[in-house]
Amino acid sequence: MHKNKIWLSSPDMGGSELKFIQDAFDTNWIAPVGANIDGLEQDLEAYLENGHVTVLNSGTAAIHLGLIVLGVEAGDEVLCQSMTFAASANPILYLGATPVFIDSEKETWNICPVALEEAIIDRLAKGKKPKAIIVVHLYGVPCQIELIGQLADSYGIPILEDSAEALGSRYKGKLCGTFGDVGIFSFNGSKIITTSGGGAIITRTKALKEKVLFLATQAKDKAPYYQHSEIGYNYRMSNIAAGIGRGQMQVLDKHIDLRREMNAFYVDLFKDISSVTVFKTANEASFANCWLTTIIVNPNNNKGITNEVLRFALASDNIESRQLWKPMHLQPLHEKYPYYGTTVAENLFKNGLCMPSGSNLTKEDRERITAVVNAVFKN
Ligand SMILES: *Cc1c(COP(=O)(O)O)cnc(C)c1O
Repeated sequence: MHKNKIWLSSPDMGGSELKFIQDAFDTNWIAPVGANIDGLEQDLEAYLENGHVTVLNSGTAAIHLGLIVLGVEAGDEVLCQSMTFAASANPILYLGATPVFIDSEKETWNICPVALEEAIIDRLAKGKKPKAIIVVHLYGVPCQIELIGQLADSYGIPILEDSAEALGSRYKGKLCGTFGDVGIFSFNGSKIITTSGGGAIITRTKALKEKVLFLATQAKDKAPYYQHSEIGYNYRMSNIAAGIGRGQMQVLDKHIDLRREMNAFYVDLFKDISSVTVFKTANEASFANCWLTTIIVNPNNNKGITNEVLRFALASDNIESRQLWKPMHLQPLHEKYPYYGTTVAENLFKNGLCMPSGSNLTKEDRERITAVVNAVFKN
């Protein structure tokens, strides 16, 4: 048996990417400066409709600079959704700040507003006002951003919206990433569009964009020589990578449609399998880009078949699936930091699985996935 690998989420080129890269070569802008960078920022600003975009070399860099412009410094506390990829929380530690992790809620799998408020009240009582809140739209499903925004406003704490997985997702029609004081996106290889590696930060004002740009390009003072008064970073996106991004922006909406179709495929595939629930938020205000379709496998309902049984069965047919993100408060790196909530995130992690969800999966790929799922659950 030598079947092609079916990936969880692989790059899907639209066709114009090479043309934009060729432009970079033709004009010799093989640098972190150039027309593709400006063009990609304009494309993103037009798409996102409000805010000022700076493209960077990763989503992680965007979170790092986002925390800096929100004023996070060594010794500060930052509230952060626990159930997420490590990159949401690592920049808190880069800054010497302390993460305070918050559980998920069942409805969206994202930060629980109740646990969040409990944390804010308790940290205030302990004499420390949190400097920022990092919320995530996990797997492209919007968090309860309106409610959390009101909560954050009432305590005067800014929001960093980690929209790395949620480009094109909406809450009440407004695009994810544009609610927070700052929002970030990732264009890593597995995301809904890719620049091979890259990210973006969206800020509400032009002045904040200029600050981000200054920090991302080594924080050079306005002087006729190299003078620096602040710590700078080398975080700008390359003009080559931005060329890929420009091509990808042309197919973003198509990718969203195709990923949503994959989600519908799984809803149909699992409809008669009572131990499996395909995750869909019950929140009607939400429109998800369906970056990854995730499922919960309840081993009590079906002869003890677990998420791991399914994962191994898929792997033996060369099909990639993955466990959900392991919550940060359960990570060896973060065990010592405060945590507010119960076991919602932990239980999701125990029983969940991410299914292959790419915009480039073929009819034959779906047939192979169907065959494995049916063999596992229906025999
Ligand atoms: C991918 C991702 C990031 C990091 O983005 P990179 O571009 O890989 O640095 C941050 N947060 C979440 C939730 C992600 O999924």
